[in-house]
Amino acid sequence: NKQVIFRDYVTGFPKESDMYVTTSTINLRAPEGSNSVLVKNLYLSCDPVMRVRMARVSVGGFSSFTPGSPLTGLGVAKVLDSGHPDFKPGDLVWGVTGWEEYSLLSGIESLRKIQHTDVPLSYYIGLLGMPGMTAYAGFYEVCTPKSGEYVFISAAAGAVGQLVGQFAKLLGCYVVGSAGSKEKVDLLKNKLGFDDAFNYKEENDLDAALKRYFPEGIDIYFENVGGKTLDAVLINMRVHGRIAVCGMISQYNLDETEGVKNLTCLIYKRIHMQGFTVRDYYHLYPKFLETVMPYIREGKVVYVEDKAEGLESAPTALVGLFSGRNVGKQVVVVARE
Ligand code: NDP
Repeated sequence: NKQVIFRDYVTGFPKESDMYVTTSTINLRAPEGSNSVLVKNLYLSCDPVMRVRMARVSVGGFSSFTPGSPLTGLGVAKVLDSGHPDFKPGDLVWGVTGWEEYSLLSGIESLRKIQHTDVPLSYYIGLLGMPGMTAYAGFYEVCTPKSGEYVFISAAAGAVGQLVGQFAKLLGCYVVGSAGSKEKVDLLKNKLGFDDAFNYKEENDLDAALKRYFPEGIDIYFENVGGKTLDAVLINMRVHGRIAVCGMISQYNLDETEGVKNLTCLIYKRIHMQGFTVRDYYHLYPKFLETVMPYIREGKVVYVEDKAEGLESAPTALVGLFSGRNVGKQVVVVARE
């Protein structure tokens, strides 16, 4: 059983050498009555929150990874054997699994059976999984959007951002995204239907850039990066604007987080700024599927994935999130069924 092992707790930027690949043996059976499920992992998800779990002291209710053990995260898998009455061999599932070829899962609370298989199975760690739910809940529930509003999204070409932009367009908003390369900017404008997009790495003055794209100001900011971007956005928000704080990836690897200077804008512009986590919204999952499946089938929502082939590529793929190497949702392909 090939596995990706977490070497030791991380400070600063994560490195490939913080993980290593090894092989061990596994009994391909789930003991009867054990309530455990033996799965073959097909697709593993690289998520920014995994950096939080690499720290000795993890925050936000996430548990730290255990040095010397495989990393864990969201994945799509096939049940090979089951000691649990709700699962049977052949079932396709998504939920928390190990970074390895086969996993004996005893904590199966997060496992969901996959019902719709007319879409790529990898979507269940992206568009139809946690990032999709994050975009859906964050945009519709937290941003309280209205047609015609001006929407700005950072890390817009990523797993979550690309969907927020498409949801906003479907509602009739004006949508601009920022991302870290020309390739991503082109993708946002030409494939994902954003009204406009810019490369934040080429802008010395983010305030001036935002004034260029939003001469009348921003109604909704979907925050994925934090730091300087948030500061520049605050002075460009409109009165009664909303900021949904989904993530602040620019801060996760810093020993000391950057200060935000322009918070007084919250007062003068009566801005509603709310942090949220997707964990509070999974009760909406059936409604989310009902909304999004037709969009996918009708081609109204598309999804860009970046697939790294093989478990050996997983450490590089995960680390790449923090330099923006991923174009779209970063997936690790372990096996294709
Ligand atoms: P992405 O697929 O967007 O990958 C991360 C991207 O962040 C990179 O591709 C890179 O894109 C950008 N990035 C990395 N470092 C920096 C930096 N220093 N400054 C600016 N941008 C940077 O990830 P996700 O879509 O999965 O996640 C997006 C955000 O949402 C993250 O902050 C994550 O923590 C958060 N999140 C929150 C959830 C919640 O429940 N609240 C759930 C899921 C995600 P680029 O090339 O554009 O720089």
